[in-house]
Amino acid sequence: TTHLVWFRNDLRVHDNYALHAACRNPDAKVIGVFVVTPEQWRQHVMAPKQAEFIFQHVQALGHALAGRGIELHIRQVADFTASVAYIKAFCTEQNVDALFYNYQYEVNERARDAALEKALDVDVTVQGFDDSLLLAPGSVTTGNHEMYKVFTPFSKAFIRRLQEGLPECVPAPKTRGEVPFNEQFAFDVPLEKFDHEIFPVGEQEAIGMLRKFCQQPAADYPEQRDFPAIEGTSRLSPYLATGVLSPRQCLHRLLKEQPKALEGEAGATWLNELIWREFYRHLMVAYPKLCRHRPFIAWTDKVRWRGDDALLEAWQQGKTGYPIVDAAMRQLNQTGWMHNRLRMVVASFLVKDLLIDWRQGERYFMSQLIDGDLAANNGGWQWAASTGTDAAPYFRIFNPTTQGERFDADGDFIRQWLPELKAVPGKQIHSPWAWADKQKQTLDYPRPIVDHKQARLNTLAAYEAARK
Ligand code: FAD
Repeated sequence: TTHLVWFRNDLRVHDNYALHAACRNPDAKVIGVFVVTPEQWRQHVMAPKQAEFIFQHVQALGHALAGRGIELHIRQVADFTASVAYIKAFCTEQNVDALFYNYQYEVNERARDAALEKALDVDVTVQGFDDSLLLAPGSVTTGNHEMYKVFTPFSKAFIRRLQEGLPECVPAPKTRGEVPFNEQFAFDVPLEKFDHEIFPVGEQEAIGMLRKFCQQPAADYPEQRDFPAIEGTSRLSPYLATGVLSPRQCLHRLLKEQPKALEGEAGATWLNELIWREFYRHLMVAYPKLCRHRPFIAWTDKVRWRGDDALLEAWQQGKTGYPIVDAAMRQLNQTGWMHNRLRMVVASFLVKDLLIDWRQGERYFMSQLIDGDLAANNGGWQWAASTGTDAAPYFRIFNPTTQGERFDADGDFIRQWLPELKAVPGKQIHSPWAWADKQKQTLDYPRPIVDHKQARLNTLAAYEAARK
């Protein structure tokens, strides 16, 4: 018998449910396949840095599988529709008896899988797995069997479920011999190098980062995580977004190092972040409109956004005149990653200070993020725009200057990304023009593109008008 594993967002050999199941029968011939779909990725605005991250990890996966006797085939077709036809033909060509894959939960991905299951010959069995989550979508619900719309009760119910029993990790498949891996493949999509110091390539590297993080930083996380100048978070997001690491590996490693995390002690805050990841994915399955650019709260669709390309561009390029916003956007543009506190600050700024449609921000983030993930990104943007479930109320508007003063008090982060402000001393860096005007100096840095106080009033009025 021949088993085919279709790798998608699960680029690892450890704790991979589909791969594990395919290898259960020691006599089966196991083959892997990865399908590159440039047109689809373009439609999904995948960041070139994420495409490069995937490229490198497909390569690493190919080597890891080959060493275990599993050949990885890499093919390129245009889009998901073409991938269905390709997988069907590949099954026939290779005499595949059973196809294994891990579910993806976005609407296009689900439609693709449904189409494939329909198209495949009846003698090919298909097994799908809830692998990218700790608990399957739909399995954590209210007493009325509905999806929670508020995070805290979801999180409490989620933890109760974990206390009853943990989802187990499965081992990497045993070696079934050795096969060659042909590295000569290319991705015909825009690729962009990323910093290997920050994001080293490989599953073992990711596991190493996880181990190190869980030892002490996970315990210190509540005190450290809000300060972008400190490396206080795990930076595991690209690995989780592409499945180089599983959330189960994160949970088990955390509990090994921080055994009371499930009881609310050390490690609990980080666990809560993993549960935010689950929350947004579960929501996306319960409310597929979230994948279709719709706000969760319907009336917010009536907000009259400002279509101002110059303002949008200033935000994208980190030239708004608000140092914390600009430093954050430069971090994003250069590294493909942004600190969570700053994602909230810049998202709030785009929507509530510039009154630009949150979907423009969501799209720009996707086009830059190495950890771009539809559910988390959409959840984050709808939270910041006050259009989502459990969002910040629309009248809560961050003040970008005080956010900078609170979370980058000495301006260390700002100085790292805005060298043009190096001369501005100490805390003055948060309002550099106030300092420069007093000194009768000029700066090679824009003046604030909007007045925060006025912008806040305009935004409140726009939301109030939409709500009527
Ligand atoms: P840690 O703090 O170490 O957290 C561990 C893991 O938990 C993360 O790697 C991530 O997988 C998950 N996580 C943490 N916070 C959240 C959250 N609020 N929502 C969902 N999952 C979370 N995260 C993405 O992975 N991809 C995105 O495209 C994305 N877009 C965002 C957009 C906005 C506007 C906002 C406010 C947040 C977004 N996030 C996104 C969530 C969060 O900012 C990142 O997951 C986090 O900054 C990644 O850094 P880390 O790995 O060091 O996180």
